[in-house]
Amino acid sequence: MLKTRTLAGVGLAVAALLALTGCNSGSPTTPGASGEGVSPTSDKPLFEVAKDVKLDGSPTFDRITKNGKITIGVKEDQPGLGYKDATTGKRTGFDVDIARWVAASLGYSEDKIEFKAIPSANREQAIVNGDVDYYVGTYSITDKRKAVIDFAGPYFVTGQGLLVRKSEDTIKSEKDLAGKTVCSATGSTPLQNIQQNFPDTKAVGVDLYSGCVEQLINKQVDAVTTDQAILIGYAAQDPTELKVVGEPFTTEKYGVGLAKGDTAFQTFVNTMFTDGGDTWKAIFEKNLGASGMKVAQPAIEK
Ligand code: GLU
Repeated sequence: MLKTRTLAGVGLAVAALLALTGCNSGSPTTPGASGEGVSPTSDKPLFEVAKDVKLDGSPTFDRITKNGKITIGVKEDQPGLGYKDATTGKRTGFDVDIARWVAASLGYSEDKIEFKAIPSANREQAIVNGDVDYYVGTYSITDKRKAVIDFAGPYFVTGQGLLVRKSEDTIKSEKDLAGKTVCSATGSTPLQNIQQNFPDTKAVGVDLYSGCVEQLINKQVDAVTTDQAILIGYAAQDPTELKVVGEPFTTEKYGVGLAKGDTAFQTFVNTMFTDGGDTWKAIFEKNLGASGMKVAQPAIEK
């Protein structure tokens, strides 16, 4: 696990940390069932739970209806995106709220959601097996993955970046990776990129990015590489030990992973994104607003 640290600094880093870990600085305690899907500064829900939803021709929706609940695959070690507080059990993050928004649009409130943490390498299989109804967790849309599953979206765009120790001064960008050891998650696009395009760099693959961060702090690797949006979350959580360097050097478009061929479900989610008004922005502001990231909602790609 990541080390828990006392907040040493003030200002943006702290604000970002508070936002990224779902804590709430200054504003009143968030009301609502247990605070989920609710704006941090008012009791206004970020989205309504729809009533009497019908979705013809969707095997996924039929299964959800039969089960009376929704099972969603997520990450739970990525602060700001998909995170579970070990003490309270509360799940926070941009992806988790996107997942809740899809559920609410289908008519399912928080108490009817079962979250399952699934690492990068096991996502396609979990969707193919029907272990999850859909997956929302920093999941890049790629042709290789589209051969076995489908995606709705994209709903977010980021790119591969680098996280190093604060004291590191020899790695300033991806151009400095020759002779270095970098860690990423097995089954991820950033790991594959290093293995294929950085022949002089040693790539270490582990299950979870939090495991990579631990190896970085323990000086077993020189850098962690994955989407910059993920790395910013770790740096905000441990600003005295960690920093993000360089600019994103790939384009990663996040989609909602769903069963191949369930076009009705895919269209439903895409329509939700397209017709969602300010909801996307409210979810972004709540979870990533203090991070300094400037990202607009991307257009849906067919
Ligand atoms: N977005 C990249 C991917 O889908 C990296 C992040 C992740 O592993 O979830 O592979």
